[in-house]
Amino acid sequence: MEGIDPSRPLSLYIHVPFCHSKCGYCAFYSVPESMQCAGDIGKYTERTIESIERLTGEYDKPFHTVFIGGGNPGTLGLGRLESILDAALIHGKPEECTSEINPEDIDEAFLSIDAIDRVSVGIQSMDGNVLRTLGRNASVSDNIRALSLLSESGKRFNADIITAVPGEEYGTALSDISAAASYGAGHISYYCLTFEEGTPLASRMTPVDEDTEIGFLRRGWKHLADLGYRHYEVSNFALPGEECLHNKVYWELGQYIGIGPGAESSIGWEKAVSLREPEDIRSYIEGRNGTGARLTAEETEEEYLMTALRTSAGIDKKVYSSRFHHDFDSRYESAISSLDSALYLNDESAFRLTEDGFMLLDTVILTLAGII
Ligand code: SF4
Repeated sequence: MEGIDPSRPLSLYIHVPFCHSKCGYCAFYSVPESMQCAGDIGKYTERTIESIERLTGEYDKPFHTVFIGGGNPGTLGLGRLESILDAALIHGKPEECTSEINPEDIDEAFLSIDAIDRVSVGIQSMDGNVLRTLGRNASVSDNIRALSLLSESGKRFNADIITAVPGEEYGTALSDISAAASYGAGHISYYCLTFEEGTPLASRMTPVDEDTEIGFLRRGWKHLADLGYRHYEVSNFALPGEECLHNKVYWELGQYIGIGPGAESSIGWEKAVSLREPEDIRSYIEGRNGTGARLTAEETEEEYLMTALRTSAGIDKKVYSSRFHHDFDSRYESAISSLDSALYLNDESAFRLTEDGFMLLDTVILTLAGII
């Protein structure tokens, strides 16, 4: 594909847009069973395999990482999932191959797929009231069953937890974290519920106030640290060696191709090319073209700042100057001096945010990006 820098690793993201039902808070594009037409899943699978084959016809090395996300990849069924994986892994195993799946779809057959070495499961909470508020399809017992099976499987896994849900107590969020840890999740994504316009949740409830939200974050972050999880990205925590390699590619603005409705790609290095597949399932199945744009060096730098500042590693100044051909310190010195010094750590090799900085991430990004 034109624009790929062949000297750099390439990752593959495959987006599965199907879900059993629509969660009350979800504003992502996804197609619940009630909205699917006969044959949609089969046609989606054919079209996705064709796209992967076109890509592997041109890129003849194993992908650095592969991530199948959604939606809920569990809706594809085993055979289709394996066919997609066969196509994606034709040149060899990636360093990491993750599949998302919703708890109600996890079973021994799914966990026996050799190609998948990491699983990401959206348990969201172990509390029935919280799950009902969120409008999740899975129940507490589905979550317990999923975590038990994952624990027995020996696969690496992530558990997603949503917090700051109206009516939730601080202790519930901490119990959710403890439960995921007790089943051996090496990685936990812990993030606040967002109220997206037009969702059923937003029309019937109001969010918790900002202080309460900060209370959920501070308490959750401390509990995760006490359990040995390192806070390596604003919403992501990992035991040693359990970081998600695929997500690191996004945060470092590395190269990745996204296949599937609405999936995004970023390829190239100094001036990245940004691509997006058509969002709705009909356009995708019919093979319509998505959109694409070659970013300027400034836009590429802004993207990089926005993603790299999300991580505890922050901005590696050597990588920065080799990519953007100027010195980080001289460019950002005055913007950084306008920030509260409690928000960041700045030494010779890196500029990174503290946990206080993570709390004010948008402000920091605006301050730095404002001078590009
Ligand atoms: S399973 Fe995920 S993508 Fe599907 S409706 Fe729920 S939150 Fe949205």
